[in-house]
Amino acid sequence: MTIVVENLSKQFGNFKAVDQVSLEIKPGKLVALLGASGSGKSTLLRLVAGLEQADAGRILIAGQDVTFKSVQDRGIGFVFQHYALFKHLTVRENIAFGLELQNLQQGRKKGRSKAKVEELLDLIQLQGLGNRYPSQLSGGQRQRVALARALAIEPSILLLDEPFGALDAKVRKDLRGWLHRLHTEVNVTTILVTHDQEEAMELADEIVVMNNGKVEQVGSPTEIYDQPASAFVMSFIGPVN
Ligand code: ADP
Ligand code: MG
Repeated sequence: MTIVVENLSKQFGNFKAVDQVSLEIKPGKLVALLGASGSGKSTLLRLVAGLEQADAGRILIAGQDVTFKSVQDRGIGFVFQHYALFKHLTVRENIAFGLELQNLQQGRKKGRSKAKVEELLDLIQLQGLGNRYPSQLSGGQRQRVALARALAIEPSILLLDEPFGALDAKVRKDLRGWLHRLHTEVNVTTILVTHDQEEAMELADEIVVMNNGKVEQVGSPTEIYDQPASAFVMSFIGPVN
């Protein structure tokens, strides 16, 4: 679904964390938000998710103004770096969690979740580990479960805030491959926050570079690297090798 952000702003005290940001994200695309720490990436993502309320501006999802809608009414799945799996639930139960909530809200039966959970276990290739607890998995496996959990509710939009941030370089690289595969198979509009230029370069259809709460440049990975719009973008992305 198309996401449109119009002149969106969010202040904390006198500090403008997100400063008149406008963006359009086309259906099925993966957009990476790239920028130094403190540039407003997470705040922008939280605004889109409905976890923060904007001071000004609008958010439209599939043409609908959702600026004042609740998190639940936006049809969004998310994976945040500090949004851990439930320790006391197995892999299967973790993946089913959001679905069960949805079933409860919509008065549906459980059968639907069972089949869906197995399908997702297949997708992340953890069929044999469905009855394990998170502590019995590697970091990379845990993040695959987190992705499956986010996808379980068949969100129209997936928001990922540095989902691989806490992992080492090798595992991150593997997971990038995973995310790429998931994104191609599930074809869900995705915003990925990262400060890792390689990750953005490899995964994104489009990169949004943020600086001090503002959008510094939007473009395809090639455009950003071949024609950086400012010294900031250039210093931030560094030399391509
Ligand atoms: P990024 O994700 O790019 O590192 P953030 O969006 O997390 O940046 O933060 C942007 C700025 O807003 C930072 O200076 C941060 O300290 C500030 N900020 C974020 N959330 C809050 C909050 N809830 N209260 C006060 N300041 C905040
Ligand atoms: Mg952040």
